[in-house]
Amino acid sequence: MSKAMPEVAVLRIGHRPERDQRVTTHVGLAARALGARGMYLAADDPGVIASIEDVASRWGGDFFVENDVKWRRCILDWKAAGGRVAHLTMYGLRMTDVIDEIRGEERVLVVVGAEKVPGDIYGLADYNVSVTTQPHSEISSLALFLDHLFEGKELNREYPDAKIRIEPTKVGKKTVER
Ligand code: SAM
Repeated sequence: MSKAMPEVAVLRIGHRPERDQRVTTHVGLAARALGARGMYLAADDPGVIASIEDVASRWGGDFFVENDVKWRRCILDWKAAGGRVAHLTMYGLRMTDVIDEIRGEERVLVVVGAEKVPGDIYGLADYNVSVTTQPHSEISSLALFLDHLFEGKELNREYPDAKIRIEPTKVGKKTVER
Protein backbone atom coordinates (compact mmCIF):
# COMPACT_ATOMS: atom_id res chain seq x y z
CA MET A 1 0.00 0.00 0.00
CA SER A 2 1.36 3.44 -0.87
CA LYS A 3 2.13 5.80 1.99
CA ALA A 4 -0.24 8.75 2.61
CA MET A 5 0.95 12.12 1.35
CA PRO A 6 1.35 14.97 3.84
CA GLU A 7 -1.49 17.37 4.48
CA VAL A 8 -0.34 20.76 3.23
CA ALA A 9 -1.42 24.34 3.89
CA VAL A 10 0.20 27.52 2.58
CA LEU A 11 1.03 30.62 4.61
CA ARG A 12 1.32 33.73 2.44
CA ILE A 13 3.31 36.49 4.15
CA GLY A 14 4.31 40.01 3.10
CA HIS A 15 1.19 40.62 0.99
CA ARG A 16 0.73 44.31 0.14
CA PRO A 17 -2.91 44.95 -0.78
CA GLU A 18 -1.98 47.85 -3.05
CA ARG A 19 0.25 45.73 -5.32
CA ASP A 20 0.11 41.99 -4.58
CA GLN A 21 -3.57 41.14 -5.06
CA ARG A 22 -3.15 39.31 -8.33
CA VAL A 23 -0.04 37.39 -7.26
CA THR A 24 -1.56 36.38 -3.91
CA THR A 25 -4.78 35.25 -5.60
CA HIS A 26 -2.65 33.11 -7.89
CA VAL A 27 -0.69 31.71 -4.94
CA GLY A 28 -4.06 30.57 -3.55
CA LEU A 29 -5.31 29.18 -6.85
CA ALA A 30 -2.04 27.34 -7.48
CA ALA A 31 -2.13 25.96 -3.93
CA ARG A 32 -5.69 24.68 -4.45
CA ALA A 33 -5.14 23.24 -7.92
CA LEU A 34 -1.92 21.52 -6.90
CA GLY A 35 -3.17 19.72 -3.83
CA ALA A 36 -2.88 22.00 -0.78
CA ARG A 37 -5.78 21.99 1.70
CA GLY A 38 -5.89 25.74 2.23
CA MET A 39 -4.13 29.06 2.51
CA TYR A 40 -3.57 31.41 5.44
CA LEU A 41 -3.13 35.05 4.43
CA ALA A 42 -1.02 37.14 6.80
CA ALA A 43 -2.73 40.38 5.75
CA ASP A 44 -6.22 41.82 5.73
CA ASP A 45 -7.48 41.56 2.16
CA PRO A 46 -11.06 40.25 1.95
CA GLY A 47 -11.11 40.82 -1.83
CA VAL A 48 -8.37 38.23 -2.38
CA ILE A 49 -10.13 35.79 -0.08
CA ALA A 50 -13.42 36.30 -1.95
CA SER A 51 -11.79 35.67 -5.35
CA ILE A 52 -10.27 32.37 -4.22
CA GLU A 53 -13.48 31.29 -2.45
CA ASP A 54 -15.46 32.05 -5.58
CA VAL A 55 -13.28 29.71 -7.64
CA ALA A 56 -13.35 27.02 -4.95
CA SER A 57 -17.14 27.14 -4.66
CA ARG A 58 -17.65 26.63 -8.41
CA TRP A 59 -14.80 24.25 -9.18
CA GLY A 60 -15.24 22.03 -6.14
CA GLY A 61 -13.19 20.63 -3.27
CA ASP A 62 -12.84 21.86 0.30
CA PHE A 63 -10.02 24.38 -0.02
CA PHE A 64 -10.05 26.93 2.83
CA VAL A 65 -8.73 30.48 2.94
CA GLU A 66 -8.21 32.37 6.17
CA ASN A 67 -7.82 36.15 6.14
CA ASP A 68 -5.63 38.32 8.39
CA VAL A 69 -3.72 35.68 10.36
CA LYS A 70 -0.67 36.69 12.38
CA TRP A 71 2.19 34.87 10.66
CA ARG A 72 4.20 34.08 13.80
CA ARG A 73 1.13 32.78 15.65
CA CYS A 74 0.14 30.72 12.61
CA ILE A 75 3.59 29.08 12.47
CA LEU A 76 3.78 28.49 16.23
CA ASP A 77 0.25 27.02 16.36
CA TRP A 78 1.03 24.76 13.40
CA LYS A 79 4.22 23.51 15.08
CA ALA A 80 2.50 23.11 18.46
CA ALA A 81 -0.02 20.82 16.75
CA GLY A 82 2.84 18.64 15.51
CA GLY A 83 3.16 20.08 12.00
CA ARG A 84 6.36 21.02 10.20
CA VAL A 85 7.17 24.24 8.38
CA ALA A 86 8.82 24.52 4.97
CA HIS A 87 9.83 28.06 4.01
CA LEU A 88 10.41 28.56 0.29
CA THR A 89 13.38 30.83 -0.26
CA MET A 90 16.05 30.95 -2.91
CA TYR A 91 18.64 30.83 -0.09
CA GLY A 92 17.55 27.45 1.30
CA LEU A 93 18.71 23.91 0.75
CA ARG A 94 18.10 22.46 -2.68
CA MET A 95 14.56 21.13 -3.02
CA THR A 96 15.88 17.99 -4.69
CA ASP A 97 17.94 17.22 -1.56
CA VAL A 98 15.14 17.61 1.01
CA ILE A 99 11.85 16.84 -0.74
CA ASP A 100 11.89 13.11 0.10
CA GLU A 101 12.33 13.88 3.80
CA ILE A 102 9.53 16.48 3.71
CA ARG A 103 7.24 13.96 1.98
CA GLY A 104 7.63 11.79 5.08
CA GLU A 105 6.04 14.48 7.31
CA GLU A 106 2.35 14.28 8.23
CA ARG A 107 1.48 17.98 8.01
CA VAL A 108 3.45 20.67 6.24
CA LEU A 109 2.92 24.44 6.32
CA VAL A 110 4.54 25.97 3.24
CA VAL A 111 5.55 29.61 3.76
CA VAL A 112 5.97 31.92 0.77
CA GLY A 113 6.94 35.58 0.86
CA ALA A 114 6.46 38.65 -1.30
CA GLU A 115 9.39 41.03 -0.88
CA LYS A 116 12.06 40.49 1.78
CA VAL A 117 10.73 38.15 4.48
CA PRO A 118 11.33 38.74 8.22
CA GLY A 119 14.64 37.15 9.24
CA ASP A 120 12.99 35.15 12.04
CA ILE A 121 11.24 32.96 9.48
CA TYR A 122 14.51 31.21 8.61
CA GLY A 123 14.96 30.07 12.19
CA LEU A 124 11.32 29.18 12.78
CA ALA A 125 11.16 26.99 9.67
CA ASP A 126 12.06 23.31 9.91
CA TYR A 127 13.11 23.43 6.29
CA ASN A 128 14.34 26.39 4.22
CA VAL A 129 13.89 25.14 0.69
CA SER A 130 15.25 26.56 -2.54
CA VAL A 131 13.69 25.66 -5.85
CA THR A 132 16.67 26.02 -8.26
CA THR A 133 18.76 28.44 -6.09
CA GLN A 134 17.81 31.15 -8.61
CA PRO A 135 15.46 34.08 -7.95
CA HIS A 136 11.97 33.69 -9.40
CA SER A 137 8.57 33.88 -7.74
CA GLU A 138 6.30 32.57 -5.02
CA ILE A 139 3.90 31.10 -7.58
CA SER A 140 6.50 29.16 -9.55
CA SER A 141 8.35 27.96 -6.45
CA LEU A 142 5.10 26.85 -4.78
CA ALA A 143 3.92 25.04 -7.91
CA LEU A 144 7.18 23.14 -8.35
CA PHE A 145 7.42 22.35 -4.64
CA LEU A 146 3.88 20.90 -4.49
CA ASP A 147 4.35 18.95 -7.69
CA HIS A 148 7.56 17.35 -6.43
CA LEU A 149 6.10 16.79 -2.98
CA PHE A 150 3.06 14.96 -4.38
CA GLU A 151 5.09 13.35 -7.17
CA GLY A 152 2.63 14.55 -9.80
CA LYS A 153 -0.29 12.66 -8.25
CA GLU A 154 -2.20 15.93 -7.70
CA LEU A 155 -2.30 16.71 -11.42
CA ASN A 156 -5.33 14.60 -12.32
CA ARG A 157 -7.28 14.97 -9.11
CA GLU A 158 -11.09 14.86 -9.39
CA TYR A 159 -13.45 17.33 -7.69
CA PRO A 160 -16.70 15.33 -7.35
CA ASP A 161 -18.78 18.25 -5.98
CA ALA A 162 -17.74 20.71 -8.70
CA LYS A 163 -20.47 22.84 -10.28
CA ILE A 164 -18.35 23.19 -13.37
CA ARG A 165 -15.60 21.04 -14.81
CA ILE A 166 -13.58 20.86 -17.97
CA GLU A 167 -13.87 18.00 -20.39
CA PRO A 168 -10.35 17.81 -21.86
CA THR A 169 -10.42 18.10 -25.63
CA LYS A 170 -7.75 18.13 -28.29
CA VAL A 171 -9.17 21.29 -29.88
CA GLY A 172 -11.54 23.94 -28.54
CA LYS A 173 -13.15 24.33 -25.12
CA LYS A 174 -15.61 21.99 -23.46
CA THR A 175 -17.06 22.61 -20.00
CA VAL A 176 -19.73 20.61 -18.21
CA GLU A 177 -22.04 22.35 -15.72
CA ARG A 178 -23.95 20.56 -13.03
N1 SAM B 1 14.34 38.85 -2.49
C1 SAM B 1 13.31 38.22 -1.71
C2 SAM B 1 13.89 37.59 -0.47
O1 SAM B 1 14.98 37.95 -0.10
O2 SAM B 1 13.22 36.77 0.14
C3 SAM B 1 12.57 37.20 -2.58
C4 SAM B 1 11.36 37.77 -3.20
S1 SAM B 1 10.53 36.67 -4.27
C5 SAM B 1 9.86 37.74 -5.45
C6 SAM B 1 9.05 36.27 -3.37
C7 SAM B 1 9.01 34.88 -2.82
O3 SAM B 1 9.20 33.95 -3.87
C8 SAM B 1 10.04 34.52 -1.79
O4 SAM B 1 9.72 34.99 -0.51
C9 SAM B 1 10.00 33.00 -1.86
O5 SAM B 1 8.97 32.46 -1.08
C10 SAM B 1 9.71 32.75 -3.34
N2 SAM B 1 10.91 32.38 -4.11
C11 SAM B 1 11.52 33.12 -5.06
N3 SAM B 1 12.55 32.45 -5.60
C12 SAM B 1 12.59 31.24 -4.97
C13 SAM B 1 13.40 30.09 -5.10
N4 SAM B 1 14.41 30.02 -5.94
N5 SAM B 1 13.15 29.04 -4.30
C14 SAM B 1 12.12 29.07 -3.41
N6 SAM B 1 11.32 30.14 -3.26
C15 SAM B 1 11.53 31.20 -4.03
